[in-house]
Amino acid sequence: MIFAVSMCNRTMSLLDIPSGVLKSNFFRPRREKDKVVILLGATGTGKSRLSIDLATRFPAEIINSDKIQVHAGLDIATNKIPEEERCGIPHYLLGVIHPNVDFRATDFVDMAYDAMASILSRSQVPIIAGGSNSYIEALVDDEDFMFRSRYECCFLCVDVAMPVLDRYVSDRVDKMVEMGMVDEVRKFFDANANYTVGIRKAIGVPEFDRYLRAEPFLNKRERQELLQEAIQEIKRNTCKLARRQLEKIQRLRNKKNWKIHTVDASEVFLRRGKEADETWEKLVAGPSTEIVAEFLYN
Ligand code: ATP
Repeated sequence: MIFAVSMCNRTMSLLDIPSGVLKSNFFRPRREKDKVVILLGATGTGKSRLSIDLATRFPAEIINSDKIQVHAGLDIATNKIPEEERCGIPHYLLGVIHPNVDFRATDFVDMAYDAMASILSRSQVPIIAGGSNSYIEALVDDEDFMFRSRYECCFLCVDVAMPVLDRYVSDRVDKMVEMGMVDEVRKFFDANANYTVGIRKAIGVPEFDRYLRAEPFLNKRERQELLQEAIQEIKRNTCKLARRQLEKIQRLRNKKNWKIHTVDASEVFLRRGKEADETWEKLVAGPSTEIVAEFLYN
């Protein structure tokens, strides 16, 4: 994974505030409304990495808002942040729902409220991060719970130029396959599976159906061809997902007037190694840290 670079050992902050002070409760918000940070962005843009960067710089914990990653299983196919990259930051709603159970927006709203209450009771800031914008919308614009009257939120969106993102998510699918995605999905394969329920809705599961059904009856060359077709379809569907997610964010911004701060990570994807990390810090993590500090402490 491109971003798996010693994220947990960061001592540098772009702000002149020592990280120890940021992590302490010294600056704990004392306003009436509790504060929540919400990270948006298309798949592959780096929301998980940014959530960890912020949670290691502020007294914060993370709530997942990806309706597929909420399920247990398919860690590679659904691109869950691995344990070793979580830097010990508690994650809520990540891999906790049975794979066969459908997790609806109302379930997300209920569980997110519980998670926020738990995080806030320990004087930590909830950072909600994930790609399911309709679930975020259900949470924030829900009329029963009156989210806006109880919480003040800071929306932050990680943007990446579409051609750059298309290339990245395509490469990411190849990496997922190298990491064992086919075997992982095979374990969930069931000839009578319903691809409209639970974790089987995930991109990567329906696309492998034809391959996994035919696999035992094909020779090596035929298998390879069918496998490649499935991989190409996964890439196309991931790119489509990214576009849909961006459109939804645009709608939230334009039609719903959500004030969403944007950080552009495109440059990061054009660089490699240390240079990519420095660019991330300069263009994404640093500016986001400033936005969140302003939100929490001013
Ligand atoms: P809507 O419910 O209207 O589709 P949404 O923003 O809540 O909007 P998304 O989170 O964009 O929905 O997910 C839509 C579909 O994209 C999912 O049903 C699934 O097929 C796929 N998807 C989303 N996240 C993942 C993921 N982490 N891994 C694999 N597939 C995913």
